[in-house]
Amino acid sequence: MYIEQTIANVKKQVKEWRAQGLSVGFVPTMGYLHEGHQSLIQRAVEENDKVVVSIFVNPIQFGPKEDLESYPRDLDADCTLCEKTGAAMVFCPEVSEMYGEGFSAYVDMNGVTAELCGKSRPTHFRGVCTVVCKLFNIVTPDRAYFGEKDAQQLAVIRHMVRDLNMNVEVVGCPIVREADGLAKSSRNTYLSPEERKAALVLSRSIQAGKAMIQAGEKNGDRVLEEMCRILSEEPLAKIDYVEMVRWDSIEIHHQADVPVLVAIAVYIGTTRLIDNFILE
Ligand code: AMP
Repeated sequence: MYIEQTIANVKKQVKEWRAQGLSVGFVPTMGYLHEGHQSLIQRAVEENDKVVVSIFVNPIQFGPKEDLESYPRDLDADCTLCEKTGAAMVFCPEVSEMYGEGFSAYVDMNGVTAELCGKSRPTHFRGVCTVVCKLFNIVTPDRAYFGEKDAQQLAVIRHMVRDLNMNVEVVGCPIVREADGLAKSSRNTYLSPEERKAALVLSRSIQAGKAMIQAGEKNGDRVLEEMCRILSEEPLAKIDYVEMVRWDSIEIHHQADVPVLVAIAVYIGTTRLIDNFILE
């Protein structure tokens, strides 16, 4: 497996693969990889001749008071996992390689970023779209894999690819959870043992909301009320948002009558966790 730090080396290698007629799958990540990331890499390996995984903690998608400095990192373990899972290349650039002096181009998506995490983290998706656009231009993948764990991100990337005519197929992959239901996340490592237990309230509320709709409840507000009630029973939990939106446009929606995304963001202590379910 190649481990590359420069854009030039990635482009050179991908060009060689292309000349051999090979297809390229791509999994962008911020590293500290777990089984959620691994499921994306696995799927990419199944569907492409060569798979590139990027590991880059992207500074421009963090707000000024967010966890950029403390974000967990373990490049050696990440490379081992990528190699074991069948990736052909890890691209792990320095910040200066991605954002050279005078860097000034940004990709701003409107509409689809107005609610949910886009509302709570106003500069987040500009950072995500900019780095993903750059990575797409560097790796030129046939297919790129994103987790439904970050459902709004997946929707935003789909809109970006459509609106800017990017030549890549975006593949969404289901949420991988711990045995007790907590959605796997690199940020789970911030939780104390007590907070780890408290964090289960997210998946409990997600399960309850999903079960209500599956049992025939169409009124979104009633579903969200019940989810908020469950979340408010946990003293360590502080709700950022609990919302139902159309899955295609990420506009607020009050009826479970079209494909909907029900998404939550909750602070457990100082750690902000997200979870969701999608009903197609
Ligand atoms: P991150 O490293 O957090 O930026 O995540 C990189 C990619 O992995 C994103 O597309 C995430 O949605 C995806 N991902 C993270 N956690 C999970 C999970 N528990 N299940 C499925 N995909 C995930």
